[in-house]
Amino acid sequence: MHEGEPINAGSPLVFDKVVFSYSETRFDFDVAFSPGVVTALMGPSGSGKSTLLNLIAGFEVPDSGRILIGDADVTSLAPALRPVSMVFQENNLFGHLSIARNVGLGRSPSLRLDAADREAVSSALARVGLAGKEARLPRELSGGERQRVALARVLVRDRPVLLLDEPFAALGPALRDDMIDLVIELQQERRMTVIFVTHHPSDARKIAEELVFLEHGRVSATGKMDRFFEAAGPKAFRDYIGDDGAAR
Ligand code: ADP
Ligand code: MG
Repeated sequence: MHEGEPINAGSPLVFDKVVFSYSETRFDFDVAFSPGVVTALMGPSGSGKSTLLNLIAGFEVPDSGRILIGDADVTSLAPALRPVSMVFQENNLFGHLSIARNVGLGRSPSLRLDAADREAVSSALARVGLAGKEARLPRELSGGERQRVALARVLVRDRPVLLLDEPFAALGPALRDDMIDLVIELQQERRMTVIFVTHHPSDARKIAEELVFLEHGRVSATGKMDRFFEAAGPKAFRDYIGDDGAAR
């Protein structure tokens, strides 16, 4: 695959018998994420959620097996060439660059922006509610606003796969709710394939149609969200969320 080659929005994303290990920790991922929907990725701390996302983004490379996005085998493709955007809990922005330039990086890593690029940056910032704040530095924004900047960069990148690694975990409940609404709107506009890591069952139910539950570096259960919250749902998941989990 070459940079700029079109991949339709909402690409399916497949782990085909992927094996990966850090020194003493082994991961076996064999799972498919549905195209054009949000899948919540949940599991205890250390179960491998971030590792799974890092394999998709190309920050880690499998020992064996393949990762497919759409029809493309991206297993050993450089991160910059993958049709993927990723948002972390924090530190998504460069502190010495203005908000507009941070978003512009999604368009051109060398920040050579033409008029169309600058227009795309302005409209993305307006779309996430940050019109008028283009010239600010990240430290001059609130935590929620900084995550909005990261989402504006996702919009100008316009990649078919979006990975969100506990993006709103540092925000309070009301703000988290607003940010989730924003992601739902953006996903409905662009129909990206989204993987959303969260510890909150209520956030997962709100944003995602499907759920992949990890334990000890493996997928322990996968399927439609509602099924997980039924009495007959996967026991490991019910144990993880606790007795009142369904109400949260
Ligand atoms: P989660 O995101 O589900 O909390 P991670 O994917 O971050 O879990 O980590 C899974 C396991 O891999 C943990 O046991 C962690 O200690 C280990 N691990 C993560 N990153 C590294 C690394 N860079 N080097 C060695 N071990 C790591
Ligand atoms: Mg993690």
